[in-house]
Amino acid sequence: MRTAEVANRFVRFFETKGHVAVPSASLLYADPTLLFVNAGMVPFKAYFTGAETPPYQRAASVQKCLRTLDIDEVGKTTRHGTFFLMNGNFSFGDYFKKEAIEWAWELVTTDQDHGGYGFDPGKVWVTVLGPGYHPDYPDGDTEAAALWRSVGVPDDHIQGRSLKDNYWSMGVPGPGGPCSEIYIDRGPAYGPEGGPVVDEDRFLEIWNLVFQTEELSAVRAKDDFDIAGPLPAPGIDTGNGVDRTAYLLQGKDNLYEIDQVFPVIERASAISGRAYGANHDDDVRLRVIADHVRSGLMLMTDGVAPGNEARGYVLRRLLRRSIRSMRLLGVTDPVLVELLDVSRGLMAESFADVDRQWERVRVIAAAEEEAFDRTLRDGTAIFDLAVAQTKTAGVAVLSGDEAFQLHDTYGFPIDLTLEMAAEQGLQVDRGRFTELMAEQKNRAKADARAKKGGAVSVEAYRELREAGETPFVGYTDLSVPTRVRGLILDGQAVTRAESGATVGVVLEETPFYAESGGQTADAGVLVGSAGRSAVLDVQRPVPGLVVHTVTLDGPLEAGESLTAEVDAFHRRSACQAHSATHILHAALRELVGPTATQAGSYNKPGYLRFDYTGQQAMSAELKAEIEERCNLAIEDDLPVTATSMKLEAAQALGAMSLFGEKYPPVVRVVEMGGDWSRELCGGTHVAGSGQIGLLTLLGEQSVGSGARRVEALVSTDAFRHLSAERALVDQLTGLLKVPSGQLVDRVSTLISDLKAAEKKVEAARSAQVLAGASAILAEGRDVHGLTLVTKHLAGTSMEDLRTLALRLRDGLGERAGVVGLVGGSTDKPTVVVATNAAGRAAGAKAGALVKVSAGALGGTGGGSDDLAQGGGKDGTAAPAALAAIEDALARG
Ligand code: ATP
Ligand code: MG
Repeated sequence: MRTAEVANRFVRFFETKGHVAVPSASLLYADPTLLFVNAGMVPFKAYFTGAETPPYQRAASVQKCLRTLDIDEVGKTTRHGTFFLMNGNFSFGDYFKKEAIEWAWELVTTDQDHGGYGFDPGKVWVTVLGPGYHPDYPDGDTEAAALWRSVGVPDDHIQGRSLKDNYWSMGVPGPGGPCSEIYIDRGPAYGPEGGPVVDEDRFLEIWNLVFQTEELSAVRAKDDFDIAGPLPAPGIDTGNGVDRTAYLLQGKDNLYEIDQVFPVIERASAISGRAYGANHDDDVRLRVIADHVRSGLMLMTDGVAPGNEARGYVLRRLLRRSIRSMRLLGVTDPVLVELLDVSRGLMAESFADVDRQWERVRVIAAAEEEAFDRTLRDGTAIFDLAVAQTKTAGVAVLSGDEAFQLHDTYGFPIDLTLEMAAEQGLQVDRGRFTELMAEQKNRAKADARAKKGGAVSVEAYRELREAGETPFVGYTDLSVPTRVRGLILDGQAVTRAESGATVGVVLEETPFYAESGGQTADAGVLVGSAGRSAVLDVQRPVPGLVVHTVTLDGPLEAGESLTAEVDAFHRRSACQAHSATHILHAALRELVGPTATQAGSYNKPGYLRFDYTGQQAMSAELKAEIEERCNLAIEDDLPVTATSMKLEAAQALGAMSLFGEKYPPVVRVVEMGGDWSRELCGGTHVAGSGQIGLLTLLGEQSVGSGARRVEALVSTDAFRHLSAERALVDQLTGLLKVPSGQLVDRVSTLISDLKAAEKKVEAARSAQVLAGASAILAEGRDVHGLTLVTKHLAGTSMEDLRTLALRLRDGLGERAGVVGLVGGSTDKPTVVVATNAAGRAAGAKAGALVKVSAGALGGTGGGSDDLAQGGGKDGTAAPAALAAIEDALARG
């Protein structure tokens, strides 16, 4: 049965039972407690709490869900997706337990020709709240158990479980009640007998029925709450996993192989040339890719863009994990858009928005992949170095400082660092990392406070503004005599402030340029009778009013006369940077095309950055061309003029204005070289472009959402930068003893030599592990006619462990035998079990044995009868893990 049909069938079935079909809410459905909708009932919460009156008493929906907590399970278990669909039927004070159970049974077991899912009733198991877990339910949920019996579930398929599993609440005071889950037995091939209480992989949960029964007055934990009394009208809330139901009905082994997901695996496999099903690690990666691509598609469709906070971060993590998994499969070319497009084709049938939003999604995704590749390129080198140093020092933990530097300087998300470190068998000092992050946040806050002079109420500014705008005379004059109109101290208007105080000063007129239009504020001093006070910042907190943030060198009073003096050198540098920004903009439009419109800019003395719409990374040639074009325009010493005119007139001239920006009726048009560059701009500029001196591009990168950013240095800062780079080349030529023209060749050779050496070391290490094989083999002992060879080899990688296990197995020859090895680290032990043909004939199964062994390590594992692997959390239990294999064999 197709996945879409699993969903349709559910809604149709409940429509025949008087339910209103309600479409899925957005994944971002407003709920302040959640990042994303994570269950079908979320959009109905207000109806259940009584905050709103439901427009219907019965509803059924197929809700889009996203569970970030399940992200690490993806690909490893068979049943967890980050994105998935949840069927649900809901009763708002209408029907209750009896109907909920009878209908669920009916849909699950009715044969497919008659509108049901057609599961074999003999394979259905259910759980209910068991006896002795809560004083209000001394015998458990006997009512639910009786109802299950009455529809025909045999007693031994009804299991009681604790409050943690079978009691539901919202985690806060409000409705709560026992729940009952429906499981399908996938058969003995998937795990031991004994029902869901024994094995939740073999017995797969497909549906949870929540009986909202009572009002909770306090909730301290899942299994610790106070019941105030029965709900006036009990309700029903159920969740049936569409994807899980689909994979069972499609005869697949896991959620990633259903018709709505698998084609992404196929495409990823085709692109990478790695066959699905051939290698466990590759398979996990392919599943991660398929899952995350779908989740990413659905999130972007619902309006999320990649970012560094909250929702944007989750999306970024999903997209970057899928990209990185493709890179680990050996694919270096961009792939994300292609994979998303496959997923789009699969999801569009049920969610038309994925087609409607596709253009946007495509652009965002392409930009994100590019940004990530750059991050990977820059950061991986630094990461590798840090790992090498950590390992040389014989330490198993990558320092928090290093993780922070990777995050702060190279944009490496901490999750990526954690994952990559784990792949190298290293941990990361997260405590220290978190500490550094907190410090940085505080610094940023303090900076912001110092800069903006604290949070000031706008009221005080409004009052001062009523006396009129602050005229700006700084286009022509850098120093003017003026008077203090008012002072603001700690958010309050005051008439006097003392020496040492940092205050906001409003003047009758000012030569200081207030930060705006991407240009930073002027620096300078206010010179009064009592001293020279430095101007730290200049802002326009309300339109028309200029406020100078000043640390007073002497007392200052409203009405006092003083001279406002802009630092001429600072201003000249600011003008250079701003004019250079216009030149860069014009050069971009000339060489990239008219689509390269401004999306934002920032400039300060010596530096500028410019954001423009575009998706394509600049090639090195284009970059060089743009840089040259800018410097030619500087050399040409183009005259720079500024004219005020009516907005319409400026627009008629084709002056470039920012889309979405509001302009006053009279605007200032800045031209450079006639119409070569013509922009609406209130900023300060050089008189001729020659005064800029020099411009050098630093870099170009994506800033997400289809915009790119170019950064540049100008004037002496540009010169110093180039000079430092030359010094660097000098250093390198000295170090490597080759002329600069041969540097690249020399370094390439060094890198490939290093790689070859690393390979040799690796081979030697493997050889060493294998060399111990015969000694280990000699320790083999007889267990019920089987030769059992076990060994704990702390620190051995999974790969070496597997190779050794196979070697030992070969060494057993014709003897029926089992090999069990534990390796890995103390907190991440791993285990491998291998059996030979004779051993299997005698009943030994590697997959089953590895499960008990990994269980002793506090983890789990799996694999085939002849070779299986697993891992756990507690390496000190290695002897017990090996003994567990022996016990299992001894028991037969
Ligand atoms: P599990 O214990 O298997 O993680 P759960 O107890 O978290 O499941 P519920 O919160 O009861 O599940 O959700 C209701 C139904 O939604 C489940 O019965 C299952 O079919 C489905 N479901 C839950 N989590 C996922 C997931 N990550 N991927 C796919 N389906 C899921
Ligand atoms: Mg779960």
